[in-house]
Amino acid sequence: MNTHAPSFFSPSVLSASALGRRQFLQRTAAWAVAGAASAAGLQHGLAQAAPKQSPAQFTPPPMQAREVAPGCYYVEGLSALGSPENQNFISNAGFVVTSESVVVIDALGSPALAKRLLAEIAKVTDKKVSHVVVTHYHADHVYGLQVFADLGAQILAHQAGREYLHAETAQLRLEASREELAPWVDAQTRLVQATQWLEGSQRLQVGDTELQLELLGPAHTPEDLAVYLPKQRLLYAGDLVFRSRIPFVGQADSRSWIEGLEKLLKFDTEVIIPGHGPVSTEARKDMQLTRDYLLYLRQTMGKAAYDMTPFDEAYAATDWSEFEHLPLFDAANRMNAYNTYLLMEHEQD
Ligand SMILES: [Zn+2]
Repeated sequence: MNTHAPSFFSPSVLSASALGRRQFLQRTAAWAVAGAASAAGLQHGLAQAAPKQSPAQFTPPPMQAREVAPGCYYVEGLSALGSPENQNFISNAGFVVTSESVVVIDALGSPALAKRLLAEIAKVTDKKVSHVVVTHYHADHVYGLQVFADLGAQILAHQAGREYLHAETAQLRLEASREELAPWVDAQTRLVQATQWLEGSQRLQVGDTELQLELLGPAHTPEDLAVYLPKQRLLYAGDLVFRSRIPFVGQADSRSWIEGLEKLLKFDTEVIIPGHGPVSTEARKDMQLTRDYLLYLRQTMGKAAYDMTPFDEAYAATDWSEFEHLPLFDAANRMNAYNTYLLMEHEQD
C-alpha cells in the first residue's frame, strides 16, 4: 500500500479493515490527488473547493505580510488552537529584507505555511532567504523550518533548543501533531536542527542591516531568543511578550522570564512584533504588563506557599482586579497562579 497516501487523512477515522480493501485504495488515491491539488492551490494563495469526501477541503486562513518598519514585515497567525482547518497558523513569523538577502524570524507551524510565507516574501523581493532565526522550539514556530533548510538557509537558534530536539517529548509531540494536524503535518514533516547553535547573544550583520540576536532563555522556554534591530528600533520578541492579554505561563521559569524582560526593557524599542497577536507600538507598556503580572503572581503565590496557605484559599483571597479585565484571564489565570504556587514551593525548598 502507498504509505504516503494515509497522511492525507486521519487513520483513526478510517482504516483498511473498516472498508473493503479496494474501496479503501480508491478513496486513498482520490484523497492523495485532492491533497496535492490543494497544496498547489495554496501556493497561489487560492482557497479552492476540494472534491467531495476529501478531508483536504479546508479554507485556510488568509496570510498577508504587513510592513511595520522599512524592510521589516510580519504575518499574523490566528488566536486559536492549531487545527487542520487553520493549517496550524496560530503564531506569527517575521522577515527582514536587507540589501543582500532576507532574514526570516520563525518558520510557522507547518511546511505548507512556510511555503505561503515564501510566497509573501516573493511579493516584495526577489532576494533569497539566507537566514532563519528561531525564537524558540515550540511546534507552532518551527514545523515549517524544513522548507527553508531545503533552500539552503542558515538556521540560527539558542543552544538550549538542541536539548529539546534530542528529548523524547519533541518526537512524541511531532507524532501527535501528525495525527492532529494532518494533512499539513505528516510523515514528511521533520524536526530541523539549527545549522548554528548560539552560545551567547550576538550581532548578525546581513548586507546593510544589523540584527542583535539576544539569548533570553530560560524564560518562556529554555531556548528563548529575541531579535532586535537597533536602527529600526524594532523587536521580534518571540513569546516573551504577550500583548494586551494574560500570558500563558505554563511551566515557565518566571524569575528568569522577568530578568529577560528587564533586559529587553533596556533597549530603545518602538515597535514589538510578538510571537502571537498584533504588532504593538506601545512596546514598553506591553513588556511592563507581562513583567508586572509575573511579579504579582510570584509575590502573591510566593507568600501563600511560604505561609502554607492552601492554594484554593490563597487564590480566592488574592485581589486580581488589576488583571481580570484582560483577555484570557478566565482561561489562563488560575492555571498560571497554580503553576506559580508550585514553582514557589519548589524555590523555597
Ligand atoms: Zn508561541
